[in-house]
Amino acid sequence: LPRLPIFEAIKSHNAESTAVVHSISGRRFTYGELVNDVAAAKHKLSQNTGGKKPEGERIAFLVENGYDYVGASPLTLLSILANHAIAVPLSPTFPAHELRYILDQSGSLVLLSSEKFQAKADEVLKEGMETKPINYKQEKIMLGKKDDYVTLEEPKSEKGGMMLYTSGTTNRPKGVLLPQSVLTAQSMSLLKAWEYRPSDVLLHVLPLHHIHGTVNALFTPLFSGSTIEFQFPFNATALWERLGAPFLPNADPNKKPITFLTVVPTIYTRLLSSHSTLSSELQEATKKALLPENMRLNISGSAALPTPVKSAWSELSGGNVLLERYGMTEVGMALSCGLDFADRVDGSVGWPLPSVEARLVDSDTNEIIAEGEELDKEGKERSGEIQLRGPTIFREYWQNPMATESEFVEGEDGKGKWFKTGDVAVRREVSEAKHAQDWCKGKMYFIHGRKSADIIKTGGEKVSALEIEREMLSLPQVSEVAVVALPSEAWGQKVACVVVLSEMGKTGGRGGKQWGAMDMRRALKDRLANYKIPQEMKVVEGIPRNAMGKINKKALVKAIWPDLV
Ligand code: ATP
Repeated sequence: LPRLPIFEAIKSHNAESTAVVHSISGRRFTYGELVNDVAAAKHKLSQNTGGKKPEGERIAFLVENGYDYVGASPLTLLSILANHAIAVPLSPTFPAHELRYILDQSGSLVLLSSEKFQAKADEVLKEGMETKPINYKQEKIMLGKKDDYVTLEEPKSEKGGMMLYTSGTTNRPKGVLLPQSVLTAQSMSLLKAWEYRPSDVLLHVLPLHHIHGTVNALFTPLFSGSTIEFQFPFNATALWERLGAPFLPNADPNKKPITFLTVVPTIYTRLLSSHSTLSSELQEATKKALLPENMRLNISGSAALPTPVKSAWSELSGGNVLLERYGMTEVGMALSCGLDFADRVDGSVGWPLPSVEARLVDSDTNEIIAEGEELDKEGKERSGEIQLRGPTIFREYWQNPMATESEFVEGEDGKGKWFKTGDVAVRREVSEAKHAQDWCKGKMYFIHGRKSADIIKTGGEKVSALEIEREMLSLPQVSEVAVVALPSEAWGQKVACVVVLSEMGKTGGRGGKQWGAMDMRRALKDRLANYKIPQEMKVVEGIPRNAMGKINKKALVKAIWPDLV
């Protein structure tokens, strides 16, 4: 694959074409403006890092989704990359306590915040940090005059990139370091597979501290010169109104049809269930918007796509089939179905994307499941862990050599290490697939689940059960806890907990009553992001453990919620 760094790409696009649109205000920014603004912002940022050179430094930022995030001010992804620094995007929905951990762990030099999140940034920096980063607020770094502008050079150094925090089975989030070259390779792979085009208008409704929102929906469209329209946070009615707008009578010509939507299954579920609440005029307009000739590509990922959701979407959209793909913070996108509808097989996440090498390693025997050996002696499918390698795979967890070491395994062929994803799949010949693109080769992958019950995927967010258990055990009301996943139609999985109360828990709730689910939610509000707080709580007298003190979570869920599993 050719390597085309991000700045060469954005400079090569038509300067008059739209790079970013703010959906609500209708404000638009061209590629020409973006190039100038990133150049200016790069310069300003480099002047405001407390006398230290930004190269290789971590620069954390709290900025709302929109042009500011991309390139309008020094509070941006591209201006950080242009300084050969490491961008650490933070989620403003995280409590101060979690953000403080990320700043400490990453050793961020600067915490940039937009005006909107200044109070949050101040709260984060208030106390309990080992070394405080410099806090730059937007008004302190106004853009310079034209003659302050510097030209954009290609960041050749490998010191820059992006770092995203992800939950692992260990209890605290790990920093996944994605150097420039890895980000570029991920975008090149997606450009080839999904054929992003300058004529694409991508509606962006995802958070920007995840690989899905940053690489698939921001970085790669910038490479291709597409338009990114931000509408955040996700709201089903607002999204329908935007999709339908160009197809209503007397439509505003500035509202271009959306051609590209990439979201998580939960969002497709919510869109489907809210469609019937729209006015009949809007229902008709949105149906037109979804037709394959208008909506070029609907992608689903971050969690398993239920087949009924896929079918309902096809029905609503006049046969537009959702394309499912599989990815992970550490690897970007790894497996994907193809552009041809026949290559979007129900339940499958497709084939290894261009430049990604994938293999399955038998979970029982630890043997590599070679091509042609997908069935065991009894003719049953062999499932195995997905392992990946190639230029799109991250190289290390930030300052965590033990985790890095344990997640990679040496290849027998001497061609480099494989990353162990922890996800289990089977590979199957699918006769109805057409293999229309050259990378859609061989058998298709079907995900079975995760190796560890301690990883929960809820509404597309990855959650560590152990992290929640640690927070819950620090509450005086809780003496034992097991955090588990329950199936959920709306969220794929939902977080639940089984709790043994302490003496205080027995009387420590509202009005001296037994501590209950509401008390639990209130107690965790400032400690954990909302999606990590258990949605259900079951109080028990004791939690069964094996001789090693381990809890069999699958058995526990079966015993407590027999109807759910
Ligand atoms: P992605 O959108 O690719 O999942 P992310 O930022 O949500 O990116 P993580 O939070 O690291 O990534 O979660 C990755 C995990 O999500 C995978 O290890 C896998 O368990 C799950 N996952 C992603 N896509 C799918 C899919 N199509 N089907 C089933 N599970 C998936």
